[in-house]
Amino acid sequence: MILVFLGPPASGKGTQARLLALERDLLQISTGDLLRDAVKRETPIGAKAKTFMETGQLVPDEIVIGVFADALAVGVREGHSGFVLDGFPRTVPQAEALDATLAKLGRVLAAAVDFRVPREVLVRRAVGRRVCSNGACQATYHLDTNPPRMEGRCDVCGHELAQREDDLPQTVEKRLVEYERKTAPLLTYYEKKKKLQKLDADRPIDDITTDLVERVERLVPTR
Ligand SMILES: [Zn+2]
Repeated sequence: MILVFLGPPASGKGTQARLLALERDLLQISTGDLLRDAVKRETPIGAKAKTFMETGQLVPDEIVIGVFADALAVGVREGHSGFVLDGFPRTVPQAEALDATLAKLGRVLAAAVDFRVPREVLVRRAVGRRVCSNGACQATYHLDTNPPRMEGRCDVCGHELAQREDDLPQTVEKRLVEYERKTAPLLTYYEKKKKLQKLDADRPIDDITTDLVERVERLVPTR
């Protein structure tokens, strides 16, 4: 069982990947984690990825593909039979590389799940985010769902809360438009292969998990 989770930042796909992986004994592979880990371990690929990540640029396809193919091969070697890929592929060349990697491993993709959340909801989620300005603390809050006890102050250390540049409305909007533009061809790619599953991700976390588990159960006989 190999699943791909597609969705913009703050669509909740990372959370759901983790929950589903626990529920169905799958290995969650997240691009963000892999790249951060490669950077931390100072691998050759990590050194290459670092320059892009530090300047806020997208890491090029060949680097991401390399990191991912390695992680997948290691997972298979370790005896994992199911995977949730979170944050990969992000482009059509990456999707083609994934298909080629899976073919080499004698596997096929079960489904690509598209986490659909209205843009205004995503903007609201990001815009309400606050981070503790104390570098040693960095506790996070959300004005709607997880507000601090005292307005503008960190519950943990009492420092002032700040809004990250990334979470300003115009930045978020721009990032989402960019995401939609880049991912549209990817959705078409999976639609043509009859692998695309559209998921309403603007619902409570538990409802989404239940829905995903049911879908996965329906997929099992065809694996
Ligand atoms: Zn704090």
